[in-house]
Amino acid sequence: MFEKYDIIIVGGGHAGCEAAACSATMKAKTLLISSNMNTYGQLSCNPAMGGIAKGQIIREIDALGGYTGIVSDLSTIQFRMLNRSKGPAMWSPRSQNDRTLFSIKWRETLESFEYLDLWQDTVTEIIVKNNQVCGVVTKLGYKFYSKMVILTNGTFLNATIHIGLNKINGGRYGEENVQGLTENLISHGFKSEKLKTGTSARVDGRTIDFSKMEIQHGDENPGKFSFSDTKPVTNQKPCYLTYTDKIVHEILSTGFDKSPLLQGVIQGVGPRYCPSIEDKIQKFSDKEKHLIFVEPEGWNTNEYYLNGFSSSLPAEVQYQALKQIKGLENAKIYRPGYAIEYDYFSPLQLYSTLETKLVENLFFAGQINGTTGYEEAAAQGLYAAVNAVMKLRNQNEFILKRSEAYIGVLVDDLTTKGVDEPYRMFTSRAEHRILLRQDNADTRLTQKSYELGLASQQRFDKWREKSDRINSVIQLINEKSIAPDEINDYLTSINSAEIKQKFKIVNLVLRPEISLPELIKNVNPENELSTFSDYDSEIIENAEIEIKYKTYIEKEAEIANKLSKFEDLKLKPDFDYNKLQSLSTEARQKLMAIKPKNIGQASRISGVSPSDIAVLLVYLGK
Ligand code: FAD
Repeated sequence: MFEKYDIIIVGGGHAGCEAAACSATMKAKTLLISSNMNTYGQLSCNPAMGGIAKGQIIREIDALGGYTGIVSDLSTIQFRMLNRSKGPAMWSPRSQNDRTLFSIKWRETLESFEYLDLWQDTVTEIIVKNNQVCGVVTKLGYKFYSKMVILTNGTFLNATIHIGLNKINGGRYGEENVQGLTENLISHGFKSEKLKTGTSARVDGRTIDFSKMEIQHGDENPGKFSFSDTKPVTNQKPCYLTYTDKIVHEILSTGFDKSPLLQGVIQGVGPRYCPSIEDKIQKFSDKEKHLIFVEPEGWNTNEYYLNGFSSSLPAEVQYQALKQIKGLENAKIYRPGYAIEYDYFSPLQLYSTLETKLVENLFFAGQINGTTGYEEAAAQGLYAAVNAVMKLRNQNEFILKRSEAYIGVLVDDLTTKGVDEPYRMFTSRAEHRILLRQDNADTRLTQKSYELGLASQQRFDKWREKSDRINSVIQLINEKSIAPDEINDYLTSINSAEIKQKFKIVNLVLRPEISLPELIKNVNPENELSTFSDYDSEIIENAEIEIKYKTYIEKEAEIANKLSKFEDLKLKPDFDYNKLQSLSTEARQKLMAIKPKNIGQASRISGVSPSDIAVLLVYLGK
């Protein structure tokens, strides 16, 4: 009944959908097996995409030819560029999304690929021969064969849902967990541990009094994630802000004796930076209030998500507490908050291609690797799939450097440092933030993606045209001057010093109070600068950043280049570090365990010091 595939992807979450789309785009014969075809790309937690560092990842996925940005744009109900008041390295796009539409758009996308087959079933075993994976076995008892397998099981492996001291099996509320696969992987030598995450209650919007809350609108001129032709959202739905208070905290604390978290029922480590409300009131007992974002779940539903109120306390305690919150006095809960504990596999068991070290041609991507977040998962899915296809074609591995993409930072961190809590991306994890901006993700990655066969010709041409336009803006600004009568009225109106004679435009743009789009809008139409008034705002914004931050960008690029000289120096996977007695004992142990592919990776292993790296460089004759 079934053909033999090049690549089988297990799990249709964010990692699995992106992996399937990527593999099919690269014309590998692909099968996506997922337990439920109605939950492709399901947003398990809050109905939002992007945000700080995560928005940059979506733009990178998009530039690489992935679909997360497109699907997000097609289901956006509100868009905001966060951190506009900070430097451009921190600007982060974020959208609220229609939860149901997001999933539907993923399904439509997946159904459009010629090289992709879909099958609804649950994988319980991998088939391994001579230490190479060659297929999977499903719960329905079928065997599917392939050259490569990518596992993207998310939060589903042996997962338990906790609401108070009630425990039920489930990979997400309302969905079965997956049993047997962890044990099967362990039988092949893999090590698994537990992690935990949690989510908030969802309430009926008809029972919320929004007039008592602060309203938060989307951007006046909303942007979007994808560099392709998707359109920004035109109609937007607002979010609302409200706060807990002392009374809410007191009510919540009456449930502490039934908290699975505080009573030690949950063993898995949770994300420190995304604590539950009970965690917050325990750890920050001096804080009298905590912020809650009330986020719409979609266009055609009354459901609202209470972001910031994640809890695994008994539902009745959650209910009583939220009735004390301004605007939620009469609120009815549709679904309670809960915690979930699940198996993950330490990513130290992976090479930097996300292929496992133990079983050849088997890849892991997404939350199974100990990460958390839709964007982190999607990025890994794409990365694993590209590498699986490259291996199929006997071509070079696809590795992104830390100075090239947040995705490079993510994979490098995972495979060299491992995780001791759910890993999410922060801008602080990237050394070269000013290079890894959301506005230049296409410049960083489109060429690569085109060469891989991921970015289409149309996408590539669009980027080339944009890039030419950006360069023409930068060139004119650097070369041309402006006369006092062409701009002084405007300068006076914004309290910027008037110019006395012809003045280089670049020196005006470098003034902190000057914004390039405003300058273009207000310059005398005689000046050449005004020819850019019909250019896309992204082009002008990108040109402005390149001009204003030129010194920083160049300096950072120089540092990254210097580092990369040694970064890429290869280390043999079978090298016996025990032979190098000058290495510290800890370094020897870690290097033996992690088997870094190059000096760059070795240098980022905790416990491997600069003097250990010097020993390696001497050994390598450098
Ligand atoms: P998932 O989205 O979990 O998708 C896995 C998919 O694989 C599912 O479709 C499942 O049905 C399928 N599947 C699994 N095993 C098999 C199998 N053996 N055979 C066939 N199909 C299979 N992220 C945050 O950033 N912040 C949060 O606060 C946060 N809170 C969360 C709270 C909860 C309760 C949950 C469940 C998740 C939370 N997340 C949070 C995590 C976020 O949902 C995940 O990081 C993201 O969805 C992971 O994507 P994934 O593709 O790895 O896996």
